[in-house]
Amino acid sequence: MASELNPRAVLHADIRAAVRELCREFGGAYWQGVEAAGGYPEAFVAALTRAGWLSALIPEAYGGGGLTLEQASVVLEEINRSGANSGACHAQMYIMGTLLRHGTEAQKQRWLPALARGELRLQSFAVTEPTAGTDTASIRTVAQRDGAHFLVTGQKVWTSRLQHTDLMLLLARTTPAEQARRRGEGLSVFLVELPPPGEREAAGLTARPIRNMVNHETSEVFFDRFAVPAENLVGEEGQGLRCILDGMNAERILIAAECIGDGFWFLERARGYARERVVFGRPIGQNQGVQFPIARAYANLLAADLMRYEAAARFDRGEPAGAGANTAKLLAADASWECANVCLQTHGGFGFAADYDIERKFRETRLYQVAPVSTNLILAYLAEHVLGLPRSY
Ligand SMILES: Cc1cc2nc3c(=O)[nH]c(=O)nc-3n(C[C@H](O)[C@H](O)[C@H](O)COP(=O)(O)OP(=O)(O)OC[C@H]3O[C@@H](n4cnc5c(N)ncnc54)[C@H](O)[C@@H]3O)c2cc1C
Repeated sequence: MASELNPRAVLHADIRAAVRELCREFGGAYWQGVEAAGGYPEAFVAALTRAGWLSALIPEAYGGGGLTLEQASVVLEEINRSGANSGACHAQMYIMGTLLRHGTEAQKQRWLPALARGELRLQSFAVTEPTAGTDTASIRTVAQRDGAHFLVTGQKVWTSRLQHTDLMLLLARTTPAEQARRRGEGLSVFLVELPPPGEREAAGLTARPIRNMVNHETSEVFFDRFAVPAENLVGEEGQGLRCILDGMNAERILIAAECIGDGFWFLERARGYARERVVFGRPIGQNQGVQFPIARAYANLLAADLMRYEAAARFDRGEPAGAGANTAKLLAADASWECANVCLQTHGGFGFAADYDIERKFRETRLYQVAPVSTNLILAYLAEHVLGLPRSY
């Protein structure tokens, strides 16, 4: 019987071993404490930063790890595989792409080495708005040019980790929608240097935390003539949506890897409990009604993992990766959710007890059906862009 459930654990074994070692310091009791305090896993994120894992995608020329996307995805997979939650800090990996691909050399020199040294954190990504939702092209937050600055006014929602970052990537409208040449144009991306938390309100930025199902420290954010220097514009003015969309494939592949990590964690717990828990005088896992759902979830997880590696390899070779990245995210999120359900069911009532960590991981992995992109929107992408079906929205 295999003790390692993941047949691809041999890939990037050195990265896996190092991340596992770090995560061992932050076991279930640590995460339960963070949840109970309604806090943020500061010590965990600091340890990852110190070890250089959060600058994995920064090229070595700027002091980063220079890892491929596949290698970086293994870092997040192993974090989630350990029972921890990459959601506390994963944004730094996937936001980075916008700066790497669209930033000027001066911007890269200004921010990347400091990010790589852990002196700056890039953990917030302010795109979603309450009225626009998934329809990003219809966002209303405006950034109006005023001399050497843009003045930002509007509202974002679900802006995660705002209290734990120095830099924030912001998408705002710089040309009124009716004057833009095409839908989707007229938006721009800014890398905002946030004032220290105590000075944000006076600068025109107010945040209101949203109590929610997972610990993402996420907020509603209100901007009132909040000044951003014009030199913080990333990429071409008016082409911000394209810059953001460019980064989406990396994000989808990284999230798929997190889901795979979650899936193996759930299955490990499910099989352990199914072998040990004795009811009616025999292990519950002896009943096919218990073992088959675990076996099916395992098969689906392995299939999703293959798609994740396929997508990452395409991305790393510089080939078009949209179809693969979206498919990997879809299958991996479905597989991890199936594993979560199976794990909870296998544990019966104990699955609901916080001490087992299952209910926390269950909530955390459920998020990936909705964010950062919902399953329906992935299906719409595949239907329209890959299968050539008529556009539905
Ligand atoms: C914990 C958490 C953290 C988040 N962190 C961030 C963050 O850091 N930064 C950020 O910018 N955003 C963040 N988000 C927002 C997240 O990206 C959005 O919630 C997600 O993209 C869905 O948008 P929405 O909630 O507005 O749903 P809506 O767009 O209102 O959609 C609601 C439902 O309708 C479906 N739907 C909508 N349109 C269609 C259609 N045309 N066809 C079929 N189905 C459709 C969707 O699939 C969804 O299920 C976070 C969200 C959560 C919950």
